[in-house]
Amino acid sequence: MLRGSGDLQNDEVTLYKYLNLLHSLDEFQGRGRVDRGDKKGDDTRYTTKELRRSFLDSISYLCDINPKGGTVTAAAIRKFYCKDGVQGRLYLAANEPILDRVHHFVERMLRDLEDITPKNHGMKKRKLLRESLDLGRQRLNYYHGKVLFHLKKCDQDIRILFRDQEILTWIETIKVETDLQRLSALCYHSREGKLDELKRKASEHRDIAELTHYIGRLGAHEYAVSTIITAYLKVPILRKIKVQILPSALVTPINLPAESVNFHTVCQEISGSPHLRHSGHDLYTMLYNSNFLSGFTLPSKLVQTSAFVTRVHAELQIVDYFSRKRLEFIEDDKYVGCSKPACYFCHLWIRLHPGGFEVPASHKKVILGCRGPDIDVAEDVNGNGARIRRDQYKRLTREIIRDIEEQVHIEQFLNRCQHLSSDGSSRAPKYYDQDFDLQLIKG
Ligand SMILES: [Zn+2]
Repeated sequence: MLRGSGDLQNDEVTLYKYLNLLHSLDEFQGRGRVDRGDKKGDDTRYTTKELRRSFLDSISYLCDINPKGGTVTAAAIRKFYCKDGVQGRLYLAANEPILDRVHHFVERMLRDLEDITPKNHGMKKRKLLRESLDLGRQRLNYYHGKVLFHLKKCDQDIRILFRDQEILTWIETIKVETDLQRLSALCYHSREGKLDELKRKASEHRDIAELTHYIGRLGAHEYAVSTIITAYLKVPILRKIKVQILPSALVTPINLPAESVNFHTVCQEISGSPHLRHSGHDLYTMLYNSNFLSGFTLPSKLVQTSAFVTRVHAELQIVDYFSRKRLEFIEDDKYVGCSKPACYFCHLWIRLHPGGFEVPASHKKVILGCRGPDIDVAEDVNGNGARIRRDQYKRLTREIIRDIEEQVHIEQFLNRCQHLSSDGSSRAPKYYDQDFDLQLIKG
């Protein structure tokens, strides 16, 4: 039986209390975004391991058919012993239950690619691309809609920036194209030409940057299919794999207690944490300074985000399943592919997990609606799963506290103070108004 929704443990409250604070700090300070898929999928320099990993990312990408997040998919290959020797078994999990049509698509693909050869791979690639574009229609239409939206806002600027008629014609063709195959080809094959040129001009222009991002996404299916075909031609173990779908975990609501979302209380508590790298007093000061910089919005933000629903994200379902069942990965490569870079929570969870899994790429975005895998009480007779989960929550909390220190720029603040005291300058750091903070703290 899985753990119910109402029994929040102390460790979880502590973790979400600080995760909520980090989330609120991120809201106005932001973190870097990671993109991927900007290389050609048929790159022959890939090693077997890299190809196998790229295959997992690519198959996950093709299964992620809805732009809203429910179909974010993760994949791993288990080493599987049978009478014919060692085989691979492909495990798939998604944030929400995997749809039958996605499952059937994968089964069909694996069956169809079993007899791939250098002679027939072109035909098989075209078939897979056609089927994957059809499956991903909703996501592709969403991206095309985004292209049109941003193009409308930067159309005039592009005409001024680019005198090159070829680029203008290319953009115009993308704008009006409705056939997904032609649209995908148009975007994929321009990656190292016109799209790169557009990207070079995009650094100063937000809408052009968004436009290039979504044009890249429109070509990503063809990239994924090319990768899968290349991997199949070069990695023999893939030809014998069968697929197994993992059930997704239930959606669970979390309501943080009132004292856990009181800004003053949370600042006091975190300042007394034994996990801090710097002094609690400095962190306390910097948190109040951040509140000032945010226009005093942090206390209300903490309260606004005190209730949310959580899911066990796809990659954590796979990590948990392999860990709980003590399954071996093919070639001992503990890699879990995913259709999107991991969120902050999943990235930390995998990085800190005692199972030694490969740390995934991450966009570092703090998403509150993510939780650690649930414990199956009936299965966890020795309590090992519960222990790992409890320890993981403690480890994550420790890292979140340290990331809060980093997010409020405590390091720069302290270095700046040191610098100011040594050069005798009377200038205050731009982002820090000490008198104001002291008033707040005293008040
Ligand atoms: Zn996640």
